[in-house]
Amino acid sequence: MRSEEIFRIAVLPGDGIGPEVIAEGIKILRTVEHDLKNIRFELKEFSVGAETYLRCGDPLPPETLENCREQDVILLGAMGLPNVRWPDGLEMTPQIDLREQLDLYCGLRPCYLYQADLSPLKSLIAGQIDFLIIRESTEGLFSGRLNRIQPGATEVNDQMTISQEGSERIFRAAFREAMSRKKRLSLVDKANILPSMAFFRGIFDKVSQEFPEVETEKLYVDAASLYLVERPESFDVIVTENMFGDILSDLAAALVGGLGMAPSADVGNECAVFQPAHGSAPDIAGENLANPVATILSVALMLDWLGHTETKRGAALIRQAITQVLDKPGNRTRDLGGHLSTVDMGNRIKNELLRLL
Ligand code: NAD
Repeated sequence: MRSEEIFRIAVLPGDGIGPEVIAEGIKILRTVEHDLKNIRFELKEFSVGAETYLRCGDPLPPETLENCREQDVILLGAMGLPNVRWPDGLEMTPQIDLREQLDLYCGLRPCYLYQADLSPLKSLIAGQIDFLIIRESTEGLFSGRLNRIQPGATEVNDQMTISQEGSERIFRAAFREAMSRKKRLSLVDKANILPSMAFFRGIFDKVSQEFPEVETEKLYVDAASLYLVERPESFDVIVTENMFGDILSDLAAALVGGLGMAPSADVGNECAVFQPAHGSAPDIAGENLANPVATILSVALMLDWLGHTETKRGAALIRQAITQVLDKPGNRTRDLGGHLSTVDMGNRIKNELLRLL
């Protein structure tokens, strides 16, 4: 008899709607676990984020980070609250500290249209939008983010850092993803204006020679924004720097139903964090109104990443359950124009999943 495989998951519910959507994600994970042969998930929950800062003075305590390193994978809700700030007025962003400290350089932002009515674009059919944004997540225009505004400053400069090593690894990851999909990769940069971006493009061209089967295109970020709206179905994999990826992934989320439909992952060579693309949504926190689908899709992404045949089967089952639930027009949370609560949406997906198992 084959022995049981145990995957250890650090669960960080975080702030605002984080705990509400994570509860639904775990409900689905536990439901699918029953059907996965010889697979068990061991969950350990840790407190992080703005509320944790208010309690103990640190939004990401070192012992929590160490505990996270010891797990196979991290499942995160959302961190940060706009009114909880460092003394100099900047908002704390422990979710970004986590990426940098665990060297999670590869941000995966899949964008898939589950139902035509969820898109603000007309005349699309379900499945017609199906692309993946890969966002470099450790440098780029975020690299000066820890600089502080000097008292009395009359000028403040941010910095764009593009390193050869950082670019090569993100491009290789993007080409590998493209190889596993439709073999098309779009580079998004601003190489016509910024030297750092021309450097980025040069490295892309070099790495592209290692993957002759992948068809490439190179777009400036302004044009890419236009094409994402005009012809989203033409994209397969998009790779870009940190800030452009941050902005384009929210635009992409809007094309398929909004932030409540957008899963994400931040992946490194040793570790990975899975979380909905949205933030803590303080405007709806505690009201049972948040759409949990982005978190449940992030759970599916996590099961794929764990790489076991059974966890991958679990991921496919979760996506199938979501597809079937969204197929019924009444199954919509408020952000999707419906009336279901967070818990109701989670329960409908759970019930559909139980029918599939
Ligand atoms: P947000 O993503 O929290 O919310 C933007 C809008 O989308 C809000 O109107 C919100 O109600 C709505 N929304 C988001 N998720 C939703 C869901 N699941 N269902 C229904 N509606 C949803 O972005 P924001 O308002 O700019 O940021 C709020 C806080 O979250 C800030 O403190 C910010 O720093 C933090 N943040 C954290 C993360 C993260 O943890 N990864 C990401 C982005 C923002």
